[in-house]
Amino acid sequence: MEDERESSLRLRVEVLKRVFDEATEGMLIVSYDHSIYYYNKAFKKILGFPEDREPGFLLEEYLEFLGPKQTKMIRERLDQTGTFRGELPIRRLDGSEGYILLTIETIVDEKGNGTYRFVNCTDLSELKQMEESLERSILQDALTGLPNRLMLLNTLEESIERSRKTGGRCALISIDLDQFKQINDTLGHRFGDQVIIALAERIEDHIRESDLFGRIGGDEFLIILQGPRAEAEKVMNTVDALQEDLSRPLILGEREYSVGASMGIALCPDDAANAAELLKYADMALFRAKELGGKRSQFYSEEINASFLRRFEIEHALSRAIQGRNFHLVFQPQYDLASARIIGVEALVRFDEGVLPYRVSPAEFIPIAESVGLIVPIGRIVLEESCRIFRDWKAHGIGGVQLSVNLSRKQLGDETFVSFVRECLERYAIASHEVEFEITETALMTTDSNARELIHSLRSMGCRIAVDDFGTGYSNLGVFKEFTVDRIKIDRSFITDLPDSETDRAIVGATIVMAKVLGLRVVAEGVESDDQLGVLRILGCDETQGNYFMAASDPDDVLDVLLKERRIGNS
Ligand code: C2E
Ligand code: MG
Ligand code: MG
Repeated sequence: MEDERESSLRLRVEVLKRVFDEATEGMLIVSYDHSIYYYNKAFKKILGFPEDREPGFLLEEYLEFLGPKQTKMIRERLDQTGTFRGELPIRRLDGSEGYILLTIETIVDEKGNGTYRFVNCTDLSELKQMEESLERSILQDALTGLPNRLMLLNTLEESIERSRKTGGRCALISIDLDQFKQINDTLGHRFGDQVIIALAERIEDHIRESDLFGRIGGDEFLIILQGPRAEAEKVMNTVDALQEDLSRPLILGEREYSVGASMGIALCPDDAANAAELLKYADMALFRAKELGGKRSQFYSEEINASFLRRFEIEHALSRAIQGRNFHLVFQPQYDLASARIIGVEALVRFDEGVLPYRVSPAEFIPIAESVGLIVPIGRIVLEESCRIFRDWKAHGIGGVQLSVNLSRKQLGDETFVSFVRECLERYAIASHEVEFEITETALMTTDSNARELIHSLRSMGCRIAVDDFGTGYSNLGVFKEFTVDRIKIDRSFITDLPDSETDRAIVGATIVMAKVLGLRVVAEGVESDDQLGVLRILGCDETQGNYFMAASDPDDVLDVLLKERRIGNS
C-alpha cells in the first residue's frame, strides 16, 4: 500500500519534472535558504547561458543578463510586494540582445514567510522584431525606403520642440519635382518611380547626420535641418547645391531627361513656431517657386504670405461673384486698317466695383478662376451678357460687326458648352458667323481630343475661331493644320517695341506673310502709337486693336462710337 502511494507520487513528480524541463518558457525556482534550486533548459537557452555555466542562487546571479540598475529596481519591487512583472531588454550571456517578459513570484508558507522564488521568462525578441518592422513600415515610404510623411511630421514636431528649448533653429525645405506629372503620364508609372528613386538618391547625397530627409508622397520631399545647419546662409548653400545637382540631366536607359525641382523654405522660429505653420509656409514658398517657372528655390516671406492671402480673397470673391453675377463687360473695338472702320469688338470681363476692396485685373483673376475651375461659370456669364449687349446694339441698327469672346483652356473641357452657345445665339437672335471665339495659342497647343472636338463643333456651327496671344506659345505651326482658324491675333509683346526692335519687326512681318499664305486675317494687339501703326501698315497688317484707337470701354461708350461711325459713313 505504502509502496503504491510512493510510486504514484514519484510518477507525478516525474511528470511535473518533464513538463518543467520541456516547457518553452524559461523557469527557475530558488529556495530562500539556497537549498533547493531548479531551472529548465529553456531558461538557459533564452538567456544565453553557456552549456557549462549555471545560473547562481542570488538574484544578481540568476539575473546576470540584466544590468545592475534593472536588478536593483527588481529587488526593491520584490522587497515591497514580493512580486515583479515587466518587459525588459536584455543582453544575453553570449552577448546578443533580446527582449523578455520577466515574472518573479514569492511563494510564502502559512506564517507568511517567503520559502521559494519562482522566476519565469518568456522570450519576446521575435515579437519585438516584428513590432519594430511593422512600426518601420508605418513610418517608411515603401518606394524609396525613406522616412514617410508621418515620420517626418513627428520629427518636425520634435525638432521644433528642441529648438524652442535650446533657442536654436530648424529649417524646413519642401521639394517638388518639376514636370514630373508629364513624365509619369507619358512614360508610365514604373518609369516615374525610377525617376523618383534616382532623384531621391541625389538629394540624399546632401543630407548630413543631423538632418532628416523623406518623401511625403508623389514627387514631394521634405528636408528638416537643425542647429547650425538651419542658419539661413547654410540653408541657402544646401539649397543651391541641391538645385545644381537636381538640374543635371538624368540618364535612364538610353535616354537623357531634364527634370529639376522647385523648393520652398521656411525657418523656425523666424517664420513660424509650430509644425503646421512651418509646413504651410514652406509650401507657399514652393508654390511661388513653381509660379516663377520652377527649377528655383524660394524662401518664405511676408510678401509671399500677403500674395497668398490676396489669392485666397480673390478666389472667394470670385465664387461669391458668380452667385450674384457681379461681373460686367467692357468692349474694345477692332479696326480695319484700310477703311479705319470698326469690324469687331472684343468682350473683356471685369469684376464689379465693391466686390473686393481693391481693383483686380482679369490678368490676375482669370488665371485664379482657371486654376479652381470657376472660369467655366464665369465664361458662360460673359458669353450670355455679351450676346445680350450685342443684340441691343443691333437693335440700334449696328451691323457688320463681329463679337469676339475669349475662351479659356478650361472651358474647352466643358461638355455642354456647345449647346450653351447654341441657346445663347438663339435667345438673342445672333447669327453664328457674328461670333468669334479667341483661344490662346498655348491653349490650342495643349488640347486633348475632347477639346479638339469642341472647337470643331463650334466651327461647324459657323462660329469663327481666332488664335489669341499668337507668338507666346511654342509657335507650333501644326496648330494650323489641326484647326481651321480664321484670324491670328499677334500678341501685344511683339507690338510694344515695334518701331525700334528689329527682331519684333521681323517676327511680326513673318507672321503676317505666313497668315496671308494660309488665307488668315491678322490682328495686331495693343497698338498704342502712331509709330507702331506706321510699321504695321508697311508690314501689310489688316486689322488692329489697341488703346491708340480705343481702350476697352463700357458698352454705352462703344455704342456711341459705333453710331457716330455709322452716321459719318452714311453722310
Ligand atoms: P487678351 O484676350 O489678349 O485681351 C487683350 C488685353 O490687352 C486686354 O486686357 C486689353 O485691355 C489689353 N489691351 C488692349 N489694347 C491695349 C493697349 O494698347 N495697351 C495695353 N497696355 N493693353 C491693351 P484685359 O482686359 O486686362 O485682359 C487681359 C486678359 O485676360 C485677356 O487678354 C484675356 O486673356 C483675359 N480675359 C479677359 N476677359 C476674359 C474673358 O471674358 N474670358 C477669358 N477666358 N479670358 C478673359
Ligand atoms: Mg483676347
Ligand atoms: Mg491677346
